[in-house]
Amino acid sequence: MPREYPIERTRDIGIIAHIDAGKTTVTERVLFYTGISHKIGEVHDGQAIMDWMEQERERGITITSAATTCFWVPGGQERKKENEYRINIIDTPGHIDFTAEVQRSLRVLDGAIVVFDGVAGVEPQSETVWRQADKFKVPRICFINKLDRTGADFKKSLDSILEKLTPNAVTLQIPVGEEDKHEGIIDLLEMKALKFEGDFGQIVKEEEIPEKLLAEAKKWRDKMNEKIAAEDEKLLEKYLAGKDIPVSDLRKVLRKAVLEYKLVPVFCGSALKNKGIQQLLDAVCFYFPSPKDMPPVKGIDPKKDQEIERKPDDSEKFSALAFKIAADPYVGTLTYFRVYSGSLTAGSYLYNSTSGEKERIGRILRMHAAEREEVKEVFAGDIAATVGLKNTGTGHTLCDEAAPIVLEKISFPDPVISIRIEPKTKADQEKMSLALKRLAEEDPTFKMKSDLETGETIISGMGELHLEILVERMKREFKVEGAVGRPQVAYKETIKQKAEAEGKYIRQSGGRGQYGHVWLRLKPKKRGEKFEFINKIKGGIIPQEFIPAVEKGVKEALDKGILAGYPVVDLEVTLYDGSFHEVDSSENAFKIAASMAFQAAAKRANPVLLEPVMKLEVIVPSEFFGDAIGDLSARRGRIEETKDRLNLKVVDAKIPLAEMFGYATALRSLTEGRGTFTMEFDHYDEVPANIAQEIIEGKRR
Ligand code: GDP
Repeated sequence: MPREYPIERTRDIGIIAHIDAGKTTVTERVLFYTGISHKIGEVHDGQAIMDWMEQERERGITITSAATTCFWVPGGQERKKENEYRINIIDTPGHIDFTAEVQRSLRVLDGAIVVFDGVAGVEPQSETVWRQADKFKVPRICFINKLDRTGADFKKSLDSILEKLTPNAVTLQIPVGEEDKHEGIIDLLEMKALKFEGDFGQIVKEEEIPEKLLAEAKKWRDKMNEKIAAEDEKLLEKYLAGKDIPVSDLRKVLRKAVLEYKLVPVFCGSALKNKGIQQLLDAVCFYFPSPKDMPPVKGIDPKKDQEIERKPDDSEKFSALAFKIAADPYVGTLTYFRVYSGSLTAGSYLYNSTSGEKERIGRILRMHAAEREEVKEVFAGDIAATVGLKNTGTGHTLCDEAAPIVLEKISFPDPVISIRIEPKTKADQEKMSLALKRLAEEDPTFKMKSDLETGETIISGMGELHLEILVERMKREFKVEGAVGRPQVAYKETIKQKAEAEGKYIRQSGGRGQYGHVWLRLKPKKRGEKFEFINKIKGGIIPQEFIPAVEKGVKEALDKGILAGYPVVDLEVTLYDGSFHEVDSSENAFKIAASMAFQAAAKRANPVLLEPVMKLEVIVPSEFFGDAIGDLSARRGRIEETKDRLNLKVVDAKIPLAEMFGYATALRSLTEGRGTFTMEFDHYDEVPANIAQEIIEGKRR
C-alpha cells in the first residue's frame, strides 16, 4: 500500500508553554480549524461550520491524546487533498517537574510552537523548556498570545524573548491594536492587515494596512528583511542595495534558517478571540522541517556494538521509538511510537531491541481530535499508536529483527524525592498497588516500591508537585484515594575507594550443609555510572551456575545500603575468587556469601552519602536581593551567577534538595510575594560529613 501523504507534507510538532500561557486554547483552536477545513472543505459556508461545531461539541474535542493528527492546507491554496499537510501534534506537559515527559516529547518532535502570555512575556518555565529544546535541537516558532488581555504588550513580550531566550527571534507579524482594541494582525511578509470574521474567526479577510500603522509596519518589515537577508548572501546584496526582495525568497531563506536553528519567527494574536491561529498553522507548514529534512537517526547495532544510521526513508529497514505508554479507557494499553525509517504493517512481528523481546503489532491507530482511525500501514516520519504490546516501555526501540538497531536512549534521571503512601481504606490496598504500577509504567521518573520491613508503599518522583499530581491522577483515573506522608529526600550511598573482602557462608549441621565462598573487589565509578558486576572467575573455581546468584546477592546488598539504608550506586563489583563444595554448595549459599562479602568490603571502602542537588533560578526585585542571597547561603546554596534584568535580579544557584522544602513560602515572605523561582534536578553530590552523620543517626529528616 502506498503512503497517503508524502513525507514532505508531514509535520511532527509540539506546542510548549508556561502553565496558563494558553497552550490548551491554542491546541483546541488548531484542532477546530483543521477539523473544519478537513471535514467540510469549504470554509466559507457558515451553516456547514455551525453543524460541524454542534457535532464536535457533543462529542467533545479531545486533546488529551499523546499524539493527535490533523490536516491543513496552508496559504490560501485550494482545499483539496493534494495540497493538504498532515500535522501530528505531540502532547508536551506544562510543568518542568515532568522532566521525563518534556524530554521524551522533545526527542520525537521536529518543531515546537512556543506559546507566550502577551502580558507576562517570557516566564521562568519558558526559559527552562527553551533550553531543553536547545539541547534536543528543536526548531521553534514563537506565538505571543493573549494580546486582547488588559496589560498585553507585544513589544515588551518580544523584548523579553530577545533578551532572555534568543537574539535570533524575527518578527513576522505585529498586532493591530492591543488589549480591548486588539482587532487583528499585520502580516509583515505580505504587508497586509488580517481581520478575523465569522463566529469563530474562521473567515480571514485581507485588508490594506491602516494608515496610522503603515509607518510602523514598514519599520518592522525592514527589521525583518534585514534579519532574514543576513542569512543568505544573495538576499543580503539585494537588501543592502535597497532592492525589493520577493516574498517567496524571504520564505525560502527563513525556512532554511529555522531548520538550522538560526532564526526563530515570531507570530502573535489571541487564541481565545480566534486571532492568528490559521497563520500559525500556515507557519508550521512553511517553516518547520518535514521528517525528511531531519538528519538520519543514530543508533547502535547491538550485534556489532557499532554506531549506525537510518535515513528517514520508507525504503530503509524499519526503526521506531516508543515514546509514550498510555492507559486508554477503550482499548487498554496504547504504545505511541514514532517511525524513523521504513514501514510497518498491522499484524506483523517486530523486535524490541531494548528489551530483546519479539512483539506482535496488533492494531495500529491514529488519534484525531474526536475519533481514532485504524490504519493498515505506517511509514517513515509517521506517529501512531499500537495496542497490546507486552514488553515495550517508554524509550524502547522497535525494529526489524533481521536488522536490529538500538536508537539513542532517552536517559531519564532517577527520582529525587519520595513519600510514603497508604490507601484510605485497607480494602483498597490491592487497587492502589495496581494503579501505582500502571502509572509507573507510563512515567519512567515515577517509581514505587514496598518497604519489606514495614509493609508500607513508597513512591518517588522528580518533585513534590510531580508526586501530588500522580496521587491526584490515581484518585481520578483509578478511583483510589491515598494518604501521603511527608516528602523525603532520596539519598543514595556510594564508596570512595577500592576495597576487597571475603564472604563465607558455610554450615555443617547434619544432613545437607551449606557452602558458599567468594572474594569481591569494590571500586568507585564516576557519578551517574550506576552499577556494574564483573565476573573474573577462571577455571571453574566457582561453577558458572552459581555466578548469577552471586550477582543477585550483591544487588540485594546494594539495595540495603551501607550507612543508612539508602541504595548504593556508582560502583563496580568484581568477583575474582572463591571456592565451592561438590555437595553442599547452592545458589542460596552463594547469594548469602556474596552479600556478606559486599558488606564487609563496603565498610572499608570509605562509604559516603549522596544527595540530590538542584539547579535553581530565583528572580527577585533588586531591593530583596541581599536577603534572598543570604537565605540561599543558609540553605547551603552555591551561587553560580547573578544577572540584572530590568529592575530584577536573576540568581542561578546549585542547592541541595534537602534544604528546599517550604522554599516557596519562605521566598514569598522574604520578598513580599514578588519573588519567583524554578528548580530542577541537576546531579547527586556528596553530603558534607557533619550533616551525613545526623542523617545516619536519624536526627535529620
Ligand atoms: P495552558 O495552561 O497553557 O494550557 O493555558 P489555557 O489554554 O488553559 O489558558 C489559560 C487561561 O487563559 C484560560 O482561562 C484561557 O481561557 C485563557 N486564555 C487563553 N488564551 C487566551 C487569549 O488569547 N486571550 C485571553 N484573554 N485569555 C486567554
